Amino acid sequence: MSTPTTEPPADLPEEALHDLVEAAQAHRAPAALDLEQLDTRGTPAWPHGKALGKVAVGRLNERLEALQEKMYAEGERRLLVVLQATDTAGKDSTIRHVFDGTNPQGVKVASFKRPTEAELARDYLWRVHAHVPADGQITIFNRSHYEDVLVVRVHDLVPQARWSRRYGHIADFERLLADEGTHIIKIFLHLSKGEQAERLQERLDDPEKHWKFSIGDLAERKRWVDYQAAFTEMIRRTDADHAPWFVVPADRKWYRNLVISGILIHEMESWEMEWPEAEEGLEDVVIE
Ligand code: AMP
Ligand code: MG
Repeated sequence: MSTPTTEPPADLPEEALHDLVEAAQAHRAPAALDLEQLDTRGTPAWPHGKALGKVAVGRLNERLEALQEKMYAEGERRLLVVLQATDTAGKDSTIRHVFDGTNPQGVKVASFKRPTEAELARDYLWRVHAHVPADGQITIFNRSHYEDVLVVRVHDLVPQARWSRRYGHIADFERLLADEGTHIIKIFLHLSKGEQAERLQERLDDPEKHWKFSIGDLAERKRWVDYQAAFTEMIRRTDADHAPWFVVPADRKWYRNLVISGILIHEMESWEMEWPEAEEGLEDVVIE
């Protein structure tokens, strides 16, 4: 994170936040998606600049926190947030910033790494289904079942005849989750190859970031074009109104956070949640 050199202006009209929450919807993946044509640096949903953008992230944070509190209290709805991205696009940092201040009892993160032997010995959805959110919970998938049509496809880890059928399984799986009451939001962090080069270089130059640097990421970077094709097909084939994909420009970290907060708030506000009914007779209770 870069530190601002000047104090950000504190006055932020409520209307600007309202507009952002609506405008962020424009990042829903278009039907004829072409990632090449989608900007990674623009800030179309926020015309007020970076300093105010950072203030807005803080304000939306408070709103998300309040919504999550109500969701937890209600204990009825489930929200699954799927995060997929190129290396260094900021999945971890998104989770840290967007969910900052939410109640850890109601927010879980499931990170999907290279499958274990036990996982590889079963179908690829087995390990995933076990982590879907329960009533009242938000679960963020840091990588997900989509790796099984991304890294698996790019590296030929299973034959094409096998991975190509997975789009259908995944669509059915998400249909099942939605039919049974899970809300699903899928976010692709769209980073440019140039910005990735800068972030990798930063990780190399700063000893405190060495832990984030994986030599393997360079091999993945060489397959940039294959990954973009795999991301494109993933989004095109699995976007649905009950499980929409959003393509979020990720070159600017503050904008990425702002848009993702906006998308989540838009979804959760649409539920029109209610506080649970109080026990009867509360008005007569006297604490002695
Ligand atoms: P990271 O998220 O940087 O800790 O890296 C996790 C690694 O696990 C990435 O290289 C992923 O591509 C890899 N990975 C996740 N899911 C799968 C999968 N289903 N098959 C193979 N590799 C996977
Ligand atoms: Mg990594």
